[in-house]
Amino acid sequence: MRKPLLAAIAGSADDRPDAVTVAGRSCSREQLLGAASAVAARIAGAPVVAVRAEPTLETVVAVVGGLLAGVPVVPVPPDSGPAERDHILRDSGAALLLAGPGGAGAADVASGPTVSAGAAAVETILVDVTERAEWTKPEPDEASTAFILYTSGTTGAPKGALISRRAVAADLDALADAWAWTPDDTLAHGLPLFHVHGLVLGVLGALRVGSRLVHTGRPKPEAYAAAGGTLYFGVPTVWSRIAGDPAAARALRGARLLVSGSAPLPTPVFHTLEELTGHRPVERYGMTETLITVAARADGDRRPGCVGVPLPGVRTRVIAETGAEIGELEVTGPTLFDGYLNRPEATAGSYAADGWFRTGDIAAIEPDGTHRIVGRASTDMIKSGGYRIGAGEVENALLDHPAVREAAVVGAPHADLGQEIVAYVVADEVSERALIDFVATQLSAHKRPRKVRFLEALPRNAMGKPQKRLLPPA
Ligand code: ATP
Ligand code: MG
Repeated sequence: MRKPLLAAIAGSADDRPDAVTVAGRSCSREQLLGAASAVAARIAGAPVVAVRAEPTLETVVAVVGGLLAGVPVVPVPPDSGPAERDHILRDSGAALLLAGPGGAGAADVASGPTVSAGAAAVETILVDVTERAEWTKPEPDEASTAFILYTSGTTGAPKGALISRRAVAADLDALADAWAWTPDDTLAHGLPLFHVHGLVLGVLGALRVGSRLVHTGRPKPEAYAAAGGTLYFGVPTVWSRIAGDPAAARALRGARLLVSGSAPLPTPVFHTLEELTGHRPVERYGMTETLITVAARADGDRRPGCVGVPLPGVRTRVIAETGAEIGELEVTGPTLFDGYLNRPEATAGSYAADGWFRTGDIAAIEPDGTHRIVGRASTDMIKSGGYRIGAGEVENALLDHPAVREAAVVGAPHADLGQEIVAYVVADEVSERALIDFVATQLSAHKRPRKVRFLEALPRNAMGKPQKRLLPPA
């Protein structure tokens, strides 16, 4: 029998005053539980509660409070514009918003007790980490909803994924196994607290395993260097900045495991990290809807471009056309979501006939079981002149050129070819011709871009995911 989701927070014998640190402020597990109990008492019985997910101790208290009370928690990005915030509040039906007194977006709280969410009024409840209360109710049923997590909105409007307590607990236990994650670890990261990566893995993971948590407030290289972690989480943009800051990177030599996820880790960043930190990073793959399903194991193979093997209990398959080795990745197992809120059609459309979840990502599974993610079916599968080309392969070839710092490859409509390959790059001095020729020396002729466009920066979201929809026309 699996332990209930929050069981490990309470009753930890060796509590320490800095069990949880966020942006320089610390508390013990007992203090966290006391303050979260006060939150639980105030929101008990509500159908759902939103949390303005700033990187603060209050956010951790608010989330644990919601989970204690069994009220589904909806994290709201603190820096989101009013349109995104209203979409999430209105779609989730949240009438309560838990927020800390400071931090980004505090103006909403200062200006009054309510924020507008279209027609609905949302009452803001201030979270106080020094409050104490007793909460003695048993943990809610493991099949009940822990979170309504909104997807990143890469391919359309963010969708609210219903995530059960059971799915979260199963995922965290599987990851603890994969990464040999124990109470002796200190998890350090500075990721946003409104997605799976920073919140579910990055906060609840540490609480459930019983390791120390150091959230650095922001994912800056110098903050990672000073965090003293044994286990570090980052998205590729964070790792790329650390790779570009040798002093910060060398400070991670004493760590045990560096983990990357949420988007592909470019091969050159993998190699630079290995050189500077002495560690080959482990990559893992997941989605809001499935949590993490595939990960490189601490005791397993760590190869650039590979996201590892299915977690214990997870099964995967690639649906490929005859003769092709890449195709859409489908997954099943205990970590799957319970559907999208208010979107029965999207929910129905995301399962295969036998109930496996269709990820929408294109992948290959190597003979030894290692998974490679090639890109998204919707934007990263280019059909040009009768060939199917994965954007990721061309992006990696471009990134191998010393002048190229970032690359995003898309298929643009083309009269003869169906689609033509267009590359957007952030690069030092280099010509379009030189880059096209460079790719031609690495890949077959039909995979070389026909156009290269130079940008100051790639459009990315808070998790560092490239937003290909926002690229300028070719
Ligand atoms: P939306 O579903 O709203 O369009 P999104 O898919 O970006 O947005 P998330 O659920 O946050 O929202 O992200 C999941 C996606 O992130 C996966 O489908 C995959 O494309 C990508 N991803 C996650 N981890 C990795 C990884 N290690 N390598 C490559 N891609 C990854
Ligand atoms: Mg998605």
